[in-house]
Amino acid sequence: MDSSIEGATEAPSGDTVPEGGAFTQVTVVSATAGGSDIPAVAVAAAPASLSPSRAGDFMQCPLLYRFRVIDRLPEKPSEAATRGTLVHAVLERLFDAPAAERTAPRAKSLIPGQWERLRETRPEVAELFADDPEGERLAGWLGEAERLVERWFSLEDPTRLEPAEREMFVEAELESGLRLRGIIDRVDVAPTGEVRIVDYKTGKAPRPEYAEGALFQMKFYALVVWRLKRVIPRRLQLVYLGSGDVLTYDPVLADLERVERKLLALWEAIRQATETGDWRPRPTKLCGWCDHQAHCPEFGGTPPPYPLPVRAAGSGAV
Ligand code: SF4
Repeated sequence: MDSSIEGATEAPSGDTVPEGGAFTQVTVVSATAGGSDIPAVAVAAAPASLSPSRAGDFMQCPLLYRFRVIDRLPEKPSEAATRGTLVHAVLERLFDAPAAERTAPRAKSLIPGQWERLRETRPEVAELFADDPEGERLAGWLGEAERLVERWFSLEDPTRLEPAEREMFVEAELESGLRLRGIIDRVDVAPTGEVRIVDYKTGKAPRPEYAEGALFQMKFYALVVWRLKRVIPRRLQLVYLGSGDVLTYDPVLADLERVERKLLALWEAIRQATETGDWRPRPTKLCGWCDHQAHCPEFGGTPPPYPLPVRAAGSGAV
């Protein structure tokens, strides 16, 4: 899954911290010292972990990362992303059926129920079709979900697959203390013990010159699996339902070491930006998909007040 991590971590304050985990407020608690009650300030913490999606956000635009992870500004659901969530749910649930029954008609029959479930768990997705009283656009959208599900059967044969894991939440801590987390769509384990990590994409495969960016997420997961299990996945597989392509890569140790170095450098940049409050906008063509133009200086907007303590660049004080 083009994963944002939906899991939550218990923060020391008792708050729950969403993926990317940042405390957005300074909490004042009471502490006793020398016999008198002294207010103590639980200092807002930096983001505590990194997922492929949020790493990608920071690489795309540091200010976008801030808006999502630190300010946690709301974003409107999009038709494409919601359809992706729906298709992922259908492919996951199909494996509940016995192997011989994992057919395209069966998979398509799961769509209405999974759409219902999605509306229950995330009521905001109903907004997408609020202006569609006749249900025409919804019907077209569901039809496209059906086509994506159907195309999967031309790329993989689920009657011959027995996933070891589906929608697996993974988390690993590097020696530096950086926590990596994510959700892996599917993990297959061969009888020989070889591991294959599979991710479904409902979009189209990238052009070859952009394949490295697509593989970054998979190498991230491979690094997490390696750190957790001491096993280097034999194969990373991206299944593009939008275009009917499968992109594979067989990682070696040097790939994982390289991605670890890259993540540590990224984390250091995130740490510095968190402390200084210096989150630069980086405008690109992708700004067209950004929900936060109204808060972005590149588009005449003003970011909300920074919710974390700031130290001046070059000073040690926070
Ligand atoms: S509009 Fe562009 S530059 Fe501004 S925050 Fe969004 S992605 Fe960054």
